[in-house]
Amino acid sequence: MSAIDGLPPLREVIRSHGLTARKALGQNFLLDLNLTARIARVPGDLSDASVLEVGPGPGGLTRGLLAEGAGRVLAVEKDARCLPALEEVSAAYPGRLEIFHGDALEVDPVARLGGAIHVVANLPYNVGTELLVRWLSPQSWPPYWSSLTLMFQKEVAERIVAEPGEGPYGRLAVLAGWRSEARIALTLPPEAFTPPPKVRSAVVHLRPRPTPLAPAPAKAMERVVAAAFGQRRKMLRASLKSLGRDPMPLLEAAGIPPTERAERVSIEGFAALARAFAEGA
Ligand code: SAM
Repeated sequence: MSAIDGLPPLREVIRSHGLTARKALGQNFLLDLNLTARIARVPGDLSDASVLEVGPGPGGLTRGLLAEGAGRVLAVEKDARCLPALEEVSAAYPGRLEIFHGDALEVDPVARLGGAIHVVANLPYNVGTELLVRWLSPQSWPPYWSSLTLMFQKEVAERIVAEPGEGPYGRLAVLAGWRSEARIALTLPPEAFTPPPKVRSAVVHLRPRPTPLAPAPAKAMERVVAAAFGQRRKMLRASLKSLGRDPMPLLEAAGIPPTERAERVSIEGFAALARAFAEGA
């Protein structure tokens, strides 16, 4: 049976193009077009927007995005075996899908896409985390992207949206919460993918805050947060020593007790520490 876009079902696409999943590329494909349409709806109306899709694979999510009306999609895929299948999707949606063969860590979407750019990706988790940190740490803020909709292992998704005092709260939650509003949009069981991964997955949706939650120089913020969570079980008066400076004046300037542990410090608290660090306290 053909799908809404007149293209063959994904199982057939995978078979006819010989796209056996490769573990080294983190390939767990979504084959249910109802599900990919649900994910494509997470960023909201995309009809006037551009989408950067990272890791389209055989094109299930790409088809979801295009069927849901995305104005223009740039799909960046590392695996050359997927390109013929993606060309077929491009032919079904003339002028709306550009395929880029390469590494998502190296592409410059701003040079290729105009207007508001929404990022959507079902990526290998290690690449996804690296890209998320980059997307949250540009030179200037607000960033080029209007939203990020990213699939992660559920446990990683929980680390992105965690609040202070919660077990998964750490560097990812502080970086994400400082500059964006992040939420888990949906969770998926292993059986949603082919082949099924070992763990549950979740789609995280992030929208950039116009300005960060509290003022702080970005570099100082990153250093302070990395030092504090580098030894998360220790008190800050000990863990912050890795900054190469006496932590006591920093903690005093930020109004944080020296016996506090990183996992209980709010994002505003880290921003205060980062300001004190940058000012040489
Ligand atoms: N989006 C498809 C889906 O949902 O069915 C495929 C998802 S699969 C988890 C991840 C895809 O990312 C694979 O097609 C893989 O080849 C691609 N990929 C892995 N590393 C990549 C990278 N560094 N840059 C671009 N694509 C990458």
